[in-house]
Amino acid sequence: MAHENEHDEERPRGINNLNIRDDVTDDVPSSLPEQMGGIGLPPLFPGTHIFRIPQSVAQLIETYDEIVKDAQGNAMADPANPQQALLVQRIRVRFDKDDPLLVVGSSEDGHPVATSISNQPRNRARKGEPRILVSDMAYLLRESMKYTGPLTKNSEWIAALQWAAGRVFRAEHGLSAYCNDQKVRYIHDASDPTLRGSMLDPTGQKGCGERLYTSSFRLPAQNGQPGGYSDLAYCKKCQAKLRGFFQIERFLKPTEAMLADDVPF
Ligand SMILES: [Zn+2]
Repeated sequence: MAHENEHDEERPRGINNLNIRDDVTDDVPSSLPEQMGGIGLPPLFPGTHIFRIPQSVAQLIETYDEIVKDAQGNAMADPANPQQALLVQRIRVRFDKDDPLLVVGSSEDGHPVATSISNQPRNRARKGEPRILVSDMAYLLRESMKYTGPLTKNSEWIAALQWAAGRVFRAEHGLSAYCNDQKVRYIHDASDPTLRGSMLDPTGQKGCGERLYTSSFRLPAQNGQPGGYSDLAYCKKCQAKLRGFFQIERFLKPTEAMLADDVPF
């Protein structure tokens, strides 16, 4: 760790004055692990904002296959080939740091966020009631953007996303994190005076598979002041140090101002 304030005036500087010893140092691994927080975007703390969809949205669409499941969660057989699971193609639009969603208005104006939104439906019914399958993309287009075109085939979803390019929507958002059980976990680095530091667990222990949601990133109230949020939290199960990633929690209806034509959105 570099401590910038600890200059030692007596110590010789400059490559010709170092008395270099070629002691063996650790080799640099050929594939470097991701640095925590190094590749992401600055955090946008939980709240409600208006976001603009980039003009490039059509270039951000990808496809994937979902295994179709019945109401009990069991894979269904393909009628054409009963030995195989029935697959259905879904589409996903992935906003990343090169083509992010951008906050419009508020003190966070222009703040970029990365997330992905798919047309894979999820059950929205209350417990004990019949399934109602609706995707996030359906809420985005129908509820938040008031899109009225058909949405029954992937080609129609893609046409709707093309229509959505450059337009805005409003959403409630939070933070989430996954304690990845496939990768060595990060733990608190006590040598970092900012308290934000983390390091790969020197014992090599992997994460535990736990998921953290917005409430895990909430800070306790202090002196009667509400606590706000941190973008860092400790895993509830294994104490790994995790960074929260932007997550849309609810697609909201547009405001009157957003619906009015004379507002420069
Ligand atoms: Zn964990």
